[in-house]
Parts: sequence; C-alpha cells; structure tokens
Amino acid sequence: MGTIFDIKTEQVRLVYSAIPFSTLTIFINSTLLCIVLWSVTDNKLLFPWLAVTYLLSALRLGLYRKFKLTSPAPANILLWEKRLLITTVLSGLLWGMASLVLFPGDDIAHQVFLAFVVAGMSAGAVTTLSAHTTACLAFISLALLPVVLRFFSLGDSLGYTMAFMSALFLVMLMITSIRLNQTILGALEMRYRRQVAEATIQRQALYDTLTDLPNRRMFFDRLKQELARSQRHRHLGVVMFLDIDHFKKINDSLGHLVGDELLIAIADRLKGRLRDEDVIARLGGDEYVILVPDIGDALEGATRRAQLFAEELLTLIRGHFDIRGHHLHVTASIGITLFPLQQKKPEDLLQQADTAMYQAKKEGRNSACFFLPNMQEAANQRLSIEKGLHQALARDEFELYYQPQLDSHGTLIGAEALLRWHHPERGAVLPGEFIKIAEETGIILEIGEWVLRAACRAISALSLYHMTISVNVSPKQFKDPNFVERVNRALNDTGADPHRLRIEITESTVIDNIEQTIVRLQQLKRLGISFSIDDFGTGYSSLAYLKRLPVDVIKIDQSFVRDIETDSNDAAIVETIIVMAKHLGLGVVAEGVETDAMRNFLLSKGCHQFQGYLFSRPLPLHALQSRYLTGQAQPVKPNVPV
Ligand code: C2E
Ligand code: CA
Ligand code: CA
Repeated sequence: MGTIFDIKTEQVRLVYSAIPFSTLTIFINSTLLCIVLWSVTDNKLLFPWLAVTYLLSALRLGLYRKFKLTSPAPANILLWEKRLLITTVLSGLLWGMASLVLFPGDDIAHQVFLAFVVAGMSAGAVTTLSAHTTACLAFISLALLPVVLRFFSLGDSLGYTMAFMSALFLVMLMITSIRLNQTILGALEMRYRRQVAEATIQRQALYDTLTDLPNRRMFFDRLKQELARSQRHRHLGVVMFLDIDHFKKINDSLGHLVGDELLIAIADRLKGRLRDEDVIARLGGDEYVILVPDIGDALEGATRRAQLFAEELLTLIRGHFDIRGHHLHVTASIGITLFPLQQKKPEDLLQQADTAMYQAKKEGRNSACFFLPNMQEAANQRLSIEKGLHQALARDEFELYYQPQLDSHGTLIGAEALLRWHHPERGAVLPGEFIKIAEETGIILEIGEWVLRAACRAISALSLYHMTISVNVSPKQFKDPNFVERVNRALNDTGADPHRLRIEITESTVIDNIEQTIVRLQQLKRLGISFSIDDFGTGYSSLAYLKRLPVDVIKIDQSFVRDIETDSNDAAIVETIIVMAKHLGLGVVAEGVETDAMRNFLLSKGCHQFQGYLFSRPLPLHALQSRYLTGQAQPVKPNVPV
C-alpha cells in the first residue's frame, strides 16, 4: 500500500521543483541587468553582486539536486523547508540590494529598467514560490520594498509616482500570491483526501475493521503463497482455526461493547505471541485463523511443534481478561492442520482446520485437535444433512410418528410425537441424526413449528379419544420470544383442544433461564397445556427448580430404565425419582420400557405409566389409530418399523 502524501511535504516539493526554471531566469536577468548597467553603475559593485547571485543560484541548484535524489520523508521536511526559506530570503535580499547599490544616480531610463527587472523577477517568483506563502511574500517584499524606498528617496514628483506604482505593484503581487497559494493548497488537500479515501477502501478490503487483523481475503492470499512455497521448499506449515468457547454467551449477557473489546484483546494477545512471518486473521465473529508458514521438515517433529504451539495459544487465552470492569475467563478450541499433505487448495485447508476445531469443541472445548481424514467424512455428512434440512420442509419429507403411552392396565393414555425424515436418498433418518444440527443452524424453529402444527392436527383428528399428545420442543424453540403466540395460533388454526397437548422440555431448557421459563410455562398453562420434563435424571435434576416449575409429569430417562434390573444405582435413582415426583404431586412416565421385567419393577416402585418397545415402537398416525383406537386394542409386535 502506497504511503499517503503529506501536504507540507508536497508544498515544499513543489517549490523545489521550480528551482531550475527560477535559476535560469535569475541567470538571464542578472546578466542582462549588469550588461545594461555597465556604463552607468560602478563596476566594482556590479561584479561582486553578479558573482554572489551566481553563487547563490549554484547553491540552490545543488540543493535541488540533493532534494530530488533523497526525496526526503515527511519527518525531514522541516529541514528542507528551512533551507528553502534561507536561500529564498538571501535571493530576495540580493535583488533588493540591486536597487540600493546598483541604482544609477540620475539616469531615469536605467532606473526604470532596473525597477522593471526587479518587478519582473518578483512577478515570476509568484508563480514559482506560491506553493509556500512565507517564502513568496518574503522574496517579493525584500526585492520590491527597496525599489519603493529608492524612488521615494528621489524626492521629486516622478520619484513619488514611481514609488507609489511600485508599492501598488507589490501589494497586488502579495494578494495574487496569497490567492494562488490558497488554490494550490485546496488542490493538494483534495488530492490528499482522495488518497486517504482510497487507502481506507483498500485497507477495508483486506483488514478486519474491529481488530485491525488481516481478513479472510488477505489470509487466503498469503495461504496460497505459502502453500506454493512449502511445496517448492519441501517444508511443512500449519493452519490453526481458533474459536472462542461460549463467546455468544458473553456477548449476549454483557453486551456487544464488551464482546468487541474482548475480541480485540484476544487478537492483541495472540498477535503478541506470533512472529513477523506468521499470519493471524479474523474471519468474522469469534473465529481467528493462524498461519505458521514453516514449522519443520519432518511430519513427526512438525506435528509435535504444532501441538505445543496450539497448547501455548490455549494457555495464553486462558489467562483472564479485564474488560470494562468485568473479569472474564475465556477458553478457546483450536483445529490444526498441516500442509502440504494432500490438500491442493487453501479453501480445503481452512475447511480441514475448521472441521478439526469442531471436533475439539465436541471433545469438551478448551483443547486443540488435529484434522484426521475421517473427520472430513463426518463433516461432509453433516453438511449434506444441513443442506437437506433446508429442502425437507418444502418437499414435505417430514412425518410425525406416535409412540403410545399406556397405563398399568394397558390402556392408551397418550402418545409422544416423534419426528421422522424420509430422506430422498438416505431413506428414513432418525431425529438423533438431525435435531442437533437443526438446533445449531436455527432451522429447528421452522421444523418445530411444523411439528407443532402436525401434532395439533393429530389432536383434532383424535378428538374422540381421551389421550394427550406429547410434543418435543427444543431449547431454542422454547426460547423464541414468539413461542407462546405460535402455540396459540397452531391451536386456533387446527381447532385442537389445548388440554390434549403436552409439551416436553428438557432440563437444559429450564436451567438456562429459570425465571423466564417459569413465566413462559405459566402463560402456556393458562391456555390449558400441560408439561413434562423429558430425560429426567440426566441433567441437573434439582429439586429446587422442580418445585417451582408448573410442570405435570416427569419422564424417567431410558438410560436408567435400561439397566434397572442389573444396576442397583440405576434402580435407586429410578426409585428416588418416583418418590420425589409423588411428593411433588407430579405424574411419572417411564421411557424405554422394553421388557416385562422392567415394567414390573417400575410398577412395584409406584410408576404406572409407560412408554417403550414392549408396547409399541413409534407408529404413523393411521397405524396408531387402527391399532389402538378402532375397536379392540391389539397386541403390537416390537418389530414394526420405526
Ligand atoms: P426422546 O424425546 O427421549 O424420545 C424417545 C426416544 O426413545 C425416541 O427416539 C424413541 O423412538 C425411543 N424409544 C422409545 N421407546 C424405546 C425403547 O423401548 N427402547 C429404546 N432403546 N428406545 C426407545 P427417536 O424417535 O429416535 O427420537 C430421539 C430424540 O429426538 C427424542 O428423544 C427427542 O429428544 C428428539 N426428537 C424427536 N422428535 C422431535 C421433535 O419433533 N422435536 C424435537 N425438538 N426433538 C425431537
Ligand atoms: Ca421426548
Ligand atoms: Ca426422553
């Protein structure tokens, strides 16, 4: 990027650039003047004057040459300005002196000639010196004032008139010079502004405005170069993808100002650890990428060094940050990939580092993880699910299945709605594979809305039967500010009875913001809806919050039920949950009941409501209807497709 020119430097440069031309005029004029005055002025005065004039011109030419050769930086410009001023003043003095010492005593024609030459020199100076007002005004006053004085001192009317005319000329030249100077300055300033604007645009295209780090584009440029260089020189480089853990929480709870300052502080801290040849860039949000161009020649050593380096960076970030009065503890996750191995393009490299970073997050965050080829497989699969989810709704690929819930007499008391995705290529996809991704990408809001409406339609269709339909609501969906309104609208639009709708939330939904959850649950409760806490026992399972929540049912997680007969701990937990629920006046549903033994055990402990393969797998709505709701209930075989 070119440096922006400095206005002062440019002014001085303009004046210096006019030196050859002004020296030439001085040379011609001073020589002619001496020739013309030869017969009327004392030659003993003419010679020294001419000699000094030549000398000064030579000095100025010398300065001009040196200035051109060194093209001084703005920092040195004051010295050059001083030189310029001194030589200009000297030159002005010389021309002023001409009127004082070379002035022919009583020869009016030669007097006027001399005045004419000095006036001409002054007029010329206005064009060559105007870029610098002080120099210009100094020169023309020093040159012309003696002319005025000299004519004035003649003491006759012609002398006075000439003095007046010369003074008037001087004033006009001064005004012209000042105005010219303003025009020049204006033009310079305009050029300066344009250059600043261009430089800013250029900078913004390559740098991140918040942290001043290079941005994605610049990083890619460098990465491309380094990738080629590493192939040529057969050394290994490393790309690290660094993402701050839970940054969003800091941003949301402490505000964007704190978030932004934290990002800057992290950038500074990381930058401080890197060498000049390393690159750190911010890709946006809380994502940084680091490029170390040369980390060794052998794979083993390079891997070890990269690992150590990543750990050092993690330690660096773990140190606390003091920002706007907040004492923040931050951790990060790093994905590492070495190059050049198989990758050909910088995009692939970054993708690999990103994938490895995700793996580090998965493994509990605050850690670094190397890219491995099988991660790519997983990442691709995730990507294909992500893409597919966006089309699934439009292509009507979702269906709700219903898993019966029965009481101890085997009577159907409800069903849990479970989402199924009929993928055009992969066939049936279970929620375990896509719900989390839908959560992360945010599309869960649309999917959740679809589920809610489909479940409400089912409630209407089953309105003759006394049963509740339970709907799983994800944390993100529950936190949506419009959630209550959405539920209300779904009920109204489908004509579903709110008393038949049960919403299942997990402990993680509750724990994030208990107060807000309570308010929301109460609002929904007023509509007639009931609630169950799903997967109970796997989260915080705190009595304190359970007591305050307006929920109706606890669902014992299937992981406890699974080993109920063999693991005494699980048996104890299940028993405790049942007792606790009874004390709090809540219903209990046991999930994942697969055998009679499990059912009997649960029954003996006081749990009377069950859901599980023992009774039925989740079924399409029509199958649920034909099996349970038309005429006699039939035994359901466990091998019905899910
Ligand atoms: P969940 O809410 O705990 O649902 C129960 C899961 O256990 C279901 O898996 C069900 O098919 C399975 N299951 C039922 N009985 C048995 C059994 O006896 N043995 C075993 N091993 N499993 C049994 P599914 O349908 O694959 O759903 C998995 C999870 O996906 C659900 O767990 C729920 O958290 C989520 N999910 C399903 N549908 C939706 C939905 O519409 N919205 C949201 N947000 N999440 C959903
Ligand atoms: Ca559930
Ligand atoms: Ca569950």
